[in-house]
Amino acid sequence: MKDPLKKIKPQVRALSAYHLKPYDCAIKLNQNENPYDLPAEIKEEVLSFARTRPWCRYPAFVPDDLIATFAEHYGWTREGILVGNGSNELILATLMVTLGPGARVLIPVPTFTLYKLESTVMGAEVATVHLGPDYTFDLDALRLAIREQMADLVVICSPNNPTGCILENDDLEAILKETDALVAVDEAYHEFCDRPSCVGLLSRHPNLIVLRTFSKAMAMAGLRVGCLLAHPDLAREIGKAKLPYNLNFFSHAAATVAIKHRATLRERIDHLRGQRDFVYRNLREIRGVRPYPSHANFILFEVEDPKRVFDGLAARGILIRDVSHYPMLSKALRVSVGTDEENETFLKALKEVMVSCSPPSLQGRGPGG
Ligand code: PMP
Repeated sequence: MKDPLKKIKPQVRALSAYHLKPYDCAIKLNQNENPYDLPAEIKEEVLSFARTRPWCRYPAFVPDDLIATFAEHYGWTREGILVGNGSNELILATLMVTLGPGARVLIPVPTFTLYKLESTVMGAEVATVHLGPDYTFDLDALRLAIREQMADLVVICSPNNPTGCILENDDLEAILKETDALVAVDEAYHEFCDRPSCVGLLSRHPNLIVLRTFSKAMAMAGLRVGCLLAHPDLAREIGKAKLPYNLNFFSHAAATVAIKHRATLRERIDHLRGQRDFVYRNLREIRGVRPYPSHANFILFEVEDPKRVFDGLAARGILIRDVSHYPMLSKALRVSVGTDEENETFLKALKEVMVSCSPPSLQGRGPGG
């Protein structure tokens, strides 16, 4: 009997795929999307362009005009910019050109699971370093791990998914100065935090790679647009792993129009930040719930029995993310910030679920935890 699976790399056979179980819930707070869709005028502008453009022709080989717009928007040179089919594609391209058997990547965990998954597919060794107390970056531990592990690549997510912590630019700069490793910083949630982007460090640090996405704050998750910024020499090499015509013309147009209307989007982002702080404050008041401060559009919180709380919310039509299988996070759940109504409904439902999960002796007692 032939066994075609024998030809698959053993490390791939051992992995579980990145997967999201479908749930039928009216309120979706599980993927850190922007709950406010792009305004109708923006959609109309993109649609009217798409109607006139021939669909039978390939998109631009290099989207020069969009790269020029990104150069201005992010404040970096055009030659150091790659545009991707979502930032995932550019994360993958970065791993492809740096990692293989014998190479080592260092990843602070818990974090976005894709980094480890794809690095393992590449055949690289994956070293991890735990976040510190309260799931914040532990700079000393991180610096020590980079030195000891002699990593070729370090992948840092800031603000970090799913904990919401950030690595300050001064701390990042200390790392960049003392290591030869490439340091990729995934700023997928940057627009929700009140710190400057690390794009400003690129001119001083040729080993830095920054990733941005249009899937979160820019409300375009369905269109798949991401951006990589690095020293031009590095960007050129990473670009070799990108597929040709990776950015379809529709997404290209939508990104251009979204940047043109960035002031409108900014108002919504600021509103979501306010709502994040509102949800955090309210979570702190619920007995048995321990939320962690977040710089992103989601909040990590701990409860005694995350599976039960997740199921209780799903039964009430609210889908959040169970992250209790992540390293260090056996009690944790993550909720994305939704519309004002969604946040109110979530908080009300969580209060009910927490009462039903707590022992009868504690029911009806005041806030805590
Ligand atoms: N980076 C992080 C940290 C994410 O959480 C996600 C999506 N969950 C992505 C990247 C993927 O972004 P994109 O949609 O641009 O591929």
